[in-house]
Amino acid sequence: MTNEEKIKQAAEIISKAKHIVGFTGAGTSAESGIPPFRGEGGIWNKYDPNSLDIDFYYSHTKDSWKIIREVFYNFFNNNEIKPNPGHKVLAKWEQEGRLSAVITQNIDDLHTVAGNKTVYEFHGNMARFVCTHCGKKYPAKELQLTENPPHCEACGGLLKPDFIFFGEGIPEKAYYGSIEAAENCDVFIIIGTSGQVGPANMIPGIAKQHGAKIIEINMQPSTYTNYITDLYLEGKSGEILPTIDTLIEWR
Ligand code: NAD
Repeated sequence: MTNEEKIKQAAEIISKAKHIVGFTGAGTSAESGIPPFRGEGGIWNKYDPNSLDIDFYYSHTKDSWKIIREVFYNFFNNNEIKPNPGHKVLAKWEQEGRLSAVITQNIDDLHTVAGNKTVYEFHGNMARFVCTHCGKKYPAKELQLTENPPHCEACGGLLKPDFIFFGEGIPEKAYYGSIEAAENCDVFIIIGTSGQVGPANMIPGIAKQHGAKIIEINMQPSTYTNYITDLYLEGKSGEILPTIDTLIEWR
């Protein structure tokens, strides 16, 4: 089957679906200009990933914060990062009542900015900060972030970005919400993830076990492709999702 035929088949399957779930990884945001963490052009080629270890953050806070600010906050403030056409299609399908959730491994907030309301942020979200002492949350854009390290205005405690550092657990709401969404969907679309990061990588298998059709969009085969994927579409999600969308006739 050609890729074009597969795209038509995907549109046919999705048109009949009542509960679609999107499962996204770094590749979904690549066309928004966000570099991957690993591989060519990945940020961990330049920086030590230990700066994102939770114990290191507490023990060497100033060193760790310097790198975090440079990698995550200077980059995002200096570049205009916006949802790409792939993000927008997922938001449109939710507004049309067919997509029940996006489960994302990304921390870039782009699904919410695109308009999705039910987003399970498996690894948290860099657009928020949380106080490690009192738990108060702050939108990142309301903080100056000039102080090293940043502190909570309410209690003076140490702030940290509200995404998961190495050594931290998955946020409970996102974890259980993702499992429930995977168990209750009829079509599960894996988008732009290599499937190498656990425990997030076990979520697609749950959808499969509960009878969902698994569609995958990726630039190259992932750990899922030859195991659980029913229909593999090779290419960029920012191009393939909009093409599928033009062929959708909801039934
Ligand atoms: P990964 O880097 O392991 O894999 C990315 C996948 O996306 C690859 O399979 C690649 O072939 C595919 N890809 C690249 N460009 C694509 C495109 N335009 N369209 C479709 N697919 C494309 O990413 P991962 O599996 O998400 O795991 C990396 C971890 O790093 C995740 O936990 C994530 O939290 C984190 N991360 C997040 C961001 C972000 O928030 N934007 C960016 C980098 C890494």
